[in-house]
Amino acid sequence: VPLVEVRDLVKRYPSGTTALKGVSFQVSVEDFIVIIGCSGAGKSTLLRCLNRLLKPTSGQVLLLGEDISTVSSAKLQRVRRRVGMIFQQFHLVPRLTVLENVLAGRLRFQSAPVPHTLSLARIFPKRDKELAFRCLQEVGIEHLALQRADTLSGGQQQRVAIARVLAQEPEVILADEPIASLDPRSASTVMNLLRQIHERKGIPVLVNLHHLDFVRRYAGRILGMQNGRLVYDGPPSLLEAEL
Ligand code: ADP
Ligand code: ADP
Repeated sequence: VPLVEVRDLVKRYPSGTTALKGVSFQVSVEDFIVIIGCSGAGKSTLLRCLNRLLKPTSGQVLLLGEDISTVSSAKLQRVRRRVGMIFQQFHLVPRLTVLENVLAGRLRFQSAPVPHTLSLARIFPKRDKELAFRCLQEVGIEHLALQRADTLSGGQQQRVAIARVLAQEPEVILADEPIASLDPRSASTVMNLLRQIHERKGIPVLVNLHHLDFVRRYAGRILGMQNGRLVYDGPPSLLEAEL
């Protein structure tokens, strides 16, 4: 059974735009996938369907054989815990500390607003805090654990977001334009971290990117999207030959 299998995925927004027009592919643990395509091609919609931030109009998303495109809202939290997601704008809780933001990855009900006033560090057991601290070590910012998230640079904030995803112990990691708001040096750090995590832990990664130089440097496999359809699925070398 492939880790993720997408079958004939269609997403039509209420506005009438059909952002995905029948997309199919499989993901295995060896995959470090970069999704490319023009703005509006459907890349972000695709990732959001894979962790059920969006409900597909039709088609299936199988996670280890389980169809998550139709799971009940009661089970959604579990799905989102299994499918870690990193965003362009980091989406940290600004007034919480870095460690607390990472601990938020351990929350059972992640769609519930993270409490701002209460100290998350106080409600979590010691082993969760140790795990969160190890996740921060993995992304090289354990020295920032007790700082407020909103005092960090963009690159540091994205590393916190990666540590938070690691704390979820996900089966697959999605990253929607994770470097689009970063300077080139932070962007390289973030991409290197994603690749290290992929290689060390055997977690497949799907990342939307539009900087071609980064696509060349990092992609193991490329999915090319155009106007809601998958128009390329293969190694970077063959794509270069086609262009
Ligand atoms: P990005 O550059 O990351 O694709 P956009 O500016 O396209 O971001 O979209 C920002 C937000 O607006 C997203 O949540 C997206 O789902 C939503 N959005 C994008 N296009 C439309 C649209 N035509 N109608 C309604 N919402 C949209
Ligand atoms: P990409 O990530 O490749 O830029 P998107 O998935 O953001 O593409 O968008 C695909 C299409 O869906 C675009 O035409 C966009 O305007 C539209 N779209 C995205 N989000 C929304 C939304 N929330 N409501 C309506 N249309 C949307």
